[in-house]
Amino acid sequence: MTASICIVGGKNSGKTTLIERLLPELSARGRKVATIKHDAHDFEIDLPGKDTWRHRRAGSGTTIIASSSKVAMVRLTEREEPLEGLLRLVDRSFDLVLIEGLRRSPLPKILIYRPELGNEPPDVLGEVWAVVTTGELTGYANAPRFRPDDIAALADLIEQRLLGGPPAKPAWNLPALLSEAGRHHGHLCPGQVLGVRLAMLGCDRLGIADPKSSKRLIVFVETDRCGTDAIQTVTGCTLGKRTLKFVDYGKLAATFIDTETGRAVRVCALESSREAALRFLPDEPDAHQAQLRAYKALPDDELFSVEEVRVDLSENELPGRPHRRVLCETCGEGVNDGREATVGGRVLCRACASGAYYKLTARRKEARREP
Ligand SMILES: [Zn+2]
Ligand SMILES: [Zn+2]
Repeated sequence: MTASICIVGGKNSGKTTLIERLLPELSARGRKVATIKHDAHDFEIDLPGKDTWRHRRAGSGTTIIASSSKVAMVRLTEREEPLEGLLRLVDRSFDLVLIEGLRRSPLPKILIYRPELGNEPPDVLGEVWAVVTTGELTGYANAPRFRPDDIAALADLIEQRLLGGPPAKPAWNLPALLSEAGRHHGHLCPGQVLGVRLAMLGCDRLGIADPKSSKRLIVFVETDRCGTDAIQTVTGCTLGKRTLKFVDYGKLAATFIDTETGRAVRVCALESSREAALRFLPDEPDAHQAQLRAYKALPDDELFSVEEVRVDLSENELPGRPHRRVLCETCGEGVNDGREATVGGRVLCRACASGAYYKLTARRKEARREP
């Protein structure tokens, strides 16, 4: 059963808000978190008039609605679904379930209490691991106290007690990665050092310790210069495996996507990193040498900016067999993965539809026997 903890408290005490704040904190630590909301009354999620509502009204005991990005189920139950049944609905890839409510379950609890609302704290069964409060609360003397904005400390407690402490930080071997990058790229240049560090940071932020074997990572690179080779070396992502995507922005930047959690971080080399390197080694007369050495040693925040982003990947971008293959009606060449265009009702390859990056020579034209 997935590790679970209940967030309990009176009405309007801030249970949902706390869950909203714990989720990004825990996922930034590489944890995959599911949530369950327990409603003490009844809930209505199926809107009257909608197709699923009509299915249910006509007598369907279980209604499932599915699209390419979500699945939801409304199952009518005779009595309240037991806890084990609810937790079984969460698939095994999750590390943790945060449950809003279920204060009488045997699971551990985080109790929220806001005395300014004038309510008594609710009765709680099971062990209270933490009390989140804006004031004082007698009772639960063994539970440490937190303020509602102590999110990192609460996440620490959850990790310590439910998940056996923080996840192991990836053990990077920088010298080994640099020599591998130098071999792959042909020389060890400052771009290799920055690229290796950039990829390490991207993987760290996603909590992916073993990018080459995890099969979870897709990387968008934004330059076709040195650093991109280093990013390939560290991550093992390649164009041919469809785990490396090239967008021609001319920037030393890359976005790292965890295909399991959907989280993505974009890391960009700072414009100021060059000056930072020269400042770091003011006595080094050779700027190239200064960069090579400083990029190995400077802290991440002097070299890179990091931002959480979202990347919507379509089926046609993912690794695996092509979902689609068509023949161009002009040149007859095969086109995979939905890269064709329909022009005036004809299916064409991009080259025939909007002009190619190459031009046929006279001889080649003959070989094709074009009119
Ligand atoms: Zn280079
Ligand atoms: Zn064509």
